[in-house]
Amino acid sequence: MGIQTQCIDKQSEACGVFGIYAPGTDVARVTFFGLYALQHRGQESAGIAVSDGLRATLHKKMGLVSQVFDEDNLAPLQGHIAIGHVRYSTADSSRAISAQPFLLESALGPIGVAHNGNLVNTEELRQGLFAHGVGLASYCDTEIMIQMLAGAPGDAWPERIRHLMSKALGAYSLTILTRNALYAVRDPWGFRPLSIGRLENGWAVASESCALQTVGATEIREIEPGVIVEIDDQGVREIPGADPEKSNLCIFEYIYFARPDSHIDGQLIHEVRQSLGRELAREHPVEADLVMAVPDSATPAAIGFALEADIPYGEGLIKNRYIGRTFIQPDDRLRQAGIALKFNPLSQTLEGKRVVVVDDSIVRGNTSRPIVELLRRAGAREVHLRISSPPIKHPCFMGVDMATYDELIAHRLSVQEVCEQIGADSLGYLSMQGMLRAVQRPMSRFCVACFSGEYPFEERAGGFIRECEGMCEVVGG
Ligand code: AMP
Repeated sequence: MGIQTQCIDKQSEACGVFGIYAPGTDVARVTFFGLYALQHRGQESAGIAVSDGLRATLHKKMGLVSQVFDEDNLAPLQGHIAIGHVRYSTADSSRAISAQPFLLESALGPIGVAHNGNLVNTEELRQGLFAHGVGLASYCDTEIMIQMLAGAPGDAWPERIRHLMSKALGAYSLTILTRNALYAVRDPWGFRPLSIGRLENGWAVASESCALQTVGATEIREIEPGVIVEIDDQGVREIPGADPEKSNLCIFEYIYFARPDSHIDGQLIHEVRQSLGRELAREHPVEADLVMAVPDSATPAAIGFALEADIPYGEGLIKNRYIGRTFIQPDDRLRQAGIALKFNPLSQTLEGKRVVVVDDSIVRGNTSRPIVELLRRAGAREVHLRISSPPIKHPCFMGVDMATYDELIAHRLSVQEVCEQIGADSLGYLSMQGMLRAVQRPMSRFCVACFSGEYPFEERAGGFIRECEGMCEVVGG
C-alpha cells in the first residue's frame, strides 16, 4: 500500500527551489523574481517563506508565481531570509496540501523546507515517524523531511540536517530556512542541480543558475553533492553533510528540463542541446528542405541539426507561450486537447516541403502524433521526426514525471511501431553513445535510468523499484 502510494503520489519531483540570505533587502520580492525565472520547473503551485530573525511567515497557493503573489500578500513577508518553491507534479498529487515550502515550529524555532527531487524510501521513513508518534497530513516526502528535521537529535541545525541525510535515500536539492540561517543541501548523488551566487549584501541559492543571473547574483557556482551550505550573519560555510556517492546527475536536465541559459556541470545547456542536435543529424541524416523544432524546448537541438545537415532552419509551428506545458495538464484527454490549443502551423513555410521536425523526447507519444498531423494538414510533403534523446523505456523514481511503464510508448513499441503510430515518414532517436558524446561527460557521471533501466542505488532500493514497477503497470494498465 505504501509503495503504491509513493508510486502514484509522487510529490516533490522536478520542482524549482530558491533561497536568499540578504539583510536590508526585500527578500520576498527577490524570491518572487527568482521563482519567476524557475517557473519552467513547475507551474502547479508556488510559495515563499520568510524569517525576520524572530518569526517566520509563509504564503503559498496553487497556481503560477504571477497568480499566487501580488503586492498585498508579498508585503507581510518581511525579513532577511527567504526560501521559495515552484511545484511540478502529476495529476494524482495535484493538491494544495502538497504546495511548498513547508513551515513548522520546532524546539529550535521555525523551520521551513523547499524540496526538489523525490525520495525512494519514504515508506520506511513514514513508518519511522509514526513509531515516534508523529502524524503526517500528506503523502509528500517533503513533509517527512521537515518532520524528521524537527525531531532529529542535536541542538544545531547542521547536525540535524546530517542526520536526515543519513536516512533519506533518493533525490533532494533543498533550501531550508531557520530563524537565523539559510541552508542549501544537495543529496550525495547530485541528482538535481543546485547553485549558489553572491549578492551585494548576501547570498542566493537556486535550482538553476538562470534564476541567480535574474536576481543579479555574481560568482555563481554549483553546490557539490553531499554538501550542506550554511549562510548566516557570520557569512557562508560549507559543511560536509554525507559522503558523496557516485555522481548521478539526471541527464534529462540537459535534454529537456533546465532552461537553455542555465549552466550545469560547467556547461551551457543551450550549447549541449545544439550538440545533441548535431549528433542526431549525423546518426539519422535525411534529404529535406527545412529543419524545424517543436518549440520551445527543442529549438537548440533543431538549430544544431540544421547546422550539421546544412539544411535551412525555420519556424514551422508558432507556440502560444501563455498556455503552459501541456504535460502539466491533469489527464491524457486534456493533454491531447492541449496540443492543438498550443501550436499553430505556418502553412507558407511548410507548403510542399520535406520537413525534419526535431523534438527533445517522446514520453507517452501524445505530442508527436498531433504535431505530425498538423504539419501535414498545413501542406508538408514529408514529415521526418528526429528525437534528441534515446527512447524512454523506464519510469523515473528520482523526480521527473515520466509516466508509468505502461504509458511509456517506447516501452511498449519498437521504433518502427512508434513511427507508424505517430504517422511520420521516418523516425530517428539519438543513441545513448551520441547523447554522451554531446554532453561531453562519461556515462558514469549521470543517471540514465529512464533510457537504460539501470537505477542508481539498486541494491538498496531495488525492492522498491521492482515492486513499484509491478504497481505502476497495474496503475497504468
Ligand atoms: P509526450 O507527448 O508524452 O510524448 O511528451 C513529450 C513532449 O513533452 C516533448 O515535446 C517534450 O518536450 C515534453 N516533455 C518531455 N518530458 C517532459 C516532462 N518531464 N515534463 C513536461 N514535458 C515533457
